[in-house]
Amino acid sequence: MNWQGILVYAENYSGSINRASFELLGKARELIPKVGGDVYATVVTNKESVERHSKELVAFGADKVIVYTVEEMLLPNPVVHRVALINAISYAKPRLVLVPATPWGRSIAPRVAAAIGTGITADCLDVYIDENGDVVQVRPAFTGNIIAHIKTLTNPVMATVRPGVFPLPQPRYDRKGEVIVRDVSVPNADSVKVLGVSKKKAVKLSEAEVIVAIGRGVKSKEDVKLFEELAKALKAQLACSRPLVDMGWMERDRQVGFSGSIVKPKLYIALGISGAPQHIAGMKDSKYIIAVNIDQSAPIVKYSDLVVIGDIYDIAKKLLHALKSSQF
Ligand SMILES: Cc1cc2nc3c(=O)[nH]c(=O)nc-3n(C[C@H](O)[C@H](O)[C@H](O)COP(=O)(O)OP(=O)(O)OC[C@H]3O[C@@H](n4cnc5c(N)ncnc54)[C@H](O)[C@@H]3O)c2cc1C
Repeated sequence: MNWQGILVYAENYSGSINRASFELLGKARELIPKVGGDVYATVVTNKESVERHSKELVAFGADKVIVYTVEEMLLPNPVVHRVALINAISYAKPRLVLVPATPWGRSIAPRVAAAIGTGITADCLDVYIDENGDVVQVRPAFTGNIIAHIKTLTNPVMATVRPGVFPLPQPRYDRKGEVIVRDVSVPNADSVKVLGVSKKKAVKLSEAEVIVAIGRGVKSKEDVKLFEELAKALKAQLACSRPLVDMGWMERDRQVGFSGSIVKPKLYIALGISGAPQHIAGMKDSKYIIAVNIDQSAPIVKYSDLVVIGDIYDIAKKLLHALKSSQF
């Protein structure tokens, strides 16, 4: 069988396709000259959104969009998405399948890989084609101490990729693409009963333009409020290093790093963060980095554009005061 092209699973369980799917389309366009074939996107959607979603996916880089229409109530049903993605793979026979490594994508992709008997590399930070023409998947391994370059020996190659690691391509709404509407019958859709979709607004650090990140320089859970206030005043997202999550002071979706989010904001302000490699891996591509630390030999210093040697409490309070009295 000739496996060709790249298939991107466009995540849509809530009525809108998430940004990470578009990032993957950008990467697929970059890789396709070396892979050959077409860039496919597949999406599960309701009837009303077929045109809107197809146009979006073509604009972001798909040559062909494989659409599965379902009743609105089946949209957040993972069994339906699993069957649809298996069907899209058997239709397109792609060499590579890319899925966003979001909680939803991480739940769908392994079920599909297991069903079709192929390997999957989860949580990749990059994908490239080597000199032999093989797809290579890059991800941290052995508790993040090494970066593994992995080849899957079965077809198709399946990878989930962290949101934010690839840039968002510029959409081109004048691009032309083909829309293929396919039916999906899901005999066991009833095996999952979706009780509701959480209304909690997900924190999307990978999309933030300004981030205030706090680390172990913060002394207690109560003190987090001060930095929350500072982030709000700067219209920034509050993020953190891993120890604050481990201590239960911050939610996991606010962690930056290897085992958290990869971020590339215009401005990253690191307050009381030493700059361990696992943290740096998640924020080193920020445009402008400001570090505030009492220790001028902290590793983060060499990654920063501006370093303020001082106490984070003192500086946060002064900054807040200045912001409030409109001196900025
Ligand atoms: C498998 C694995 C995965 C990991 N993944 C991640 C990850 O995704 N993200 C992550 O962040 N970490 C991760 N880690 C943990 C990482 O190795 C570090 O332990 C962690 O990043 C350290 O966090 P920190 O910089 O906040 O704390 P510390 O290293 O303790 O640094 C605290 C800093 O605050 C400064 N400081 C203290 N008080 C003040 C003050 N009053 N004012 C100013 N500065 C002050 C200190 O000088 C110091 O530089 C991972 C570890 C492993 C093993």
